Amino acid sequence: MFDAALAAAVTRTVPKISPTELGHIQQTEIVKDLFEGHYESATTVAQAFRGALLGIGVAEAVDGEIVAFDNTVWRVPVDGIPVVADRALGLPFSVVARGGTAITESVAAGTDFSGLTALIDEVRKAAGQHDDHAVAAVRVDGTFTGVVLRSEPRQQRPYRPLTEVLEHEVRFPFANWSGTLVGFRFPDVNDQVVIPGLHLHGIGADRQSGGHCHRAVTVAATLRVWIDDVGIFVPMTGVHYGG
Ligand SMILES: [Zn+2]
Repeated sequence: MFDAALAAAVTRTVPKISPTELGHIQQTEIVKDLFEGHYESATTVAQAFRGALLGIGVAEAVDGEIVAFDNTVWRVPVDGIPVVADRALGLPFSVVARGGTAITESVAAGTDFSGLTALIDEVRKAAGQHDDHAVAAVRVDGTFTGVVLRSEPRQQRPYRPLTEVLEHEVRFPFANWSGTLVGFRFPDVNDQVVIPGLHLHGIGADRQSGGHCHRAVTVAATLRVWIDDVGIFVPMTGVHYGG
């Protein structure tokens, strides 16, 4: 079931920043459907990422993690080597940011995901965004230690739930890594609509590594945060929530 009340809460962002500085997040499909094993195409790379500032997603049949920034959309398959995604590639789930004005902060060395989350929340609070309605697009460029990226094997029908798929995920650990992490800070709610908390995907500076980022600790990094509103489109039902 789609929780309309929670979806509405997510969209009820009232930042103090001007509307011209506000960006927009468009999510296709809800987390619950993805976790139940709906890995069929709900959108395409071309459709979901048109005009994208940054974004994340997963490829049809879970055939790789999707990472987008700098006008490029990559797919990171189970071998961990990024390839530029085909524009016609189907996606069961995507979250894409457009527009808005970035707020830039340097990140102290030794900052992990919880530290990054706290820093993002400071930026959000300074912009007048309420705690419970945390919605922001995030980009972190720099050098890191203790990085763990992951992808997972392409699935065959009948599809298994995502938790079972992720039991077979492939992890790529890097003692030292430089690159770009992009993604979103959503509310800390388990509403089965959005992915809660901080969710980042990465691509190495040499474009030879990437995937969903489990962990990373900054050495020298710059954080960019966009305060966003959000709309969620569920193609299976035709329902469109938010902006
Ligand atoms: Zn991910």
